[in-house]
Amino acid sequence: MDLIGVVARVNTVSFDACVQFASDHVVDGLLMQQPPGIGSAASAGMGLVRRAIITWLFTYLGSILLYFAFAGLDYYVVFVRYKERFVPHYQPNLKEMRREMWLSSWSLLVMAALTTPAEVAFQLGYGKIYHDVSEYGWLYLLVSPILFLVFSDTLIYFIHRGLHHPAVYKYCHKWHHSFIHTTPFAAFAFHPIDGFLQGIAYQVFVFCFPFHATMHLVSLAAVGLWTVNIHDRTTLNIPLVNGAAHHNIHHTTFKSNYGQYFIVWDWIFGTFKDPNGAHKEEKEEDVYGKKNL
Ligand SMILES: [Zn+2]
Ligand SMILES: [Zn+2]
Repeated sequence: MDLIGVVARVNTVSFDACVQFASDHVVDGLLMQQPPGIGSAASAGMGLVRRAIITWLFTYLGSILLYFAFAGLDYYVVFVRYKERFVPHYQPNLKEMRREMWLSSWSLLVMAALTTPAEVAFQLGYGKIYHDVSEYGWLYLLVSPILFLVFSDTLIYFIHRGLHHPAVYKYCHKWHHSFIHTTPFAAFAFHPIDGFLQGIAYQVFVFCFPFHATMHLVSLAAVGLWTVNIHDRTTLNIPLVNGAAHHNIHHTTFKSNYGQYFIVWDWIFGTFKDPNGAHKEEKEEDVYGKKNL
């Protein structure tokens, strides 16, 4: 997932500083049940298993912190401080919010594990992360995040549509759609496989296209924030952009506005629904039929 990727990039940047401590005190001390002294020697030539465990731990801890920071701030601004302006009819439903947080929290743990192989591969020099701007120039540096968004949006659109296929919907994506009227805390409330599949585009991109390490970090932070933002029911009304109002319609109709960042693929394939027009909420059972739920 996007947030997971952010953390993994931070991991890479601060890897040298943190990895020894994590290896000796967390991996050895807690998981492998060895005293730190033994770990110091072992971690000097770190094996794949040790590296993967550390990456997973850091990735999860960081992503959960970012999730609560982004979603908490968004919730405070939209649903508390400026509630009358943005969501005047909102009635807090603490049970649903707790469910959003609980599912996001444990789902991120599994998604972090599923993402770890790709992140370890990046650390070991596979993929196309680069550090020197002169390698591809300033123009490419500035264009690459746009390419990243277009590439990700395209893959996510088709994966997301696939997850809505009646034959598979109930196994994965139904979990996310159990939240009809979302808050920002629903941003990562997925079945872990669903979250992993929808986040895979961010990993694949780095194996296909060169991406500057810092720009990658900034882009991942932005898409993480965006994922939170599209669940807060407000919208910025930017032409061609799939905002929160669009995604709100996705949650209330189940079969329109599948895009993550743009409306282009929805528009091309006739699944676009304009939030400025009238739309009617649909029931999951009516859309999929009892036998598919
Ligand atoms: Zn969906
Ligand atoms: Zn959603």
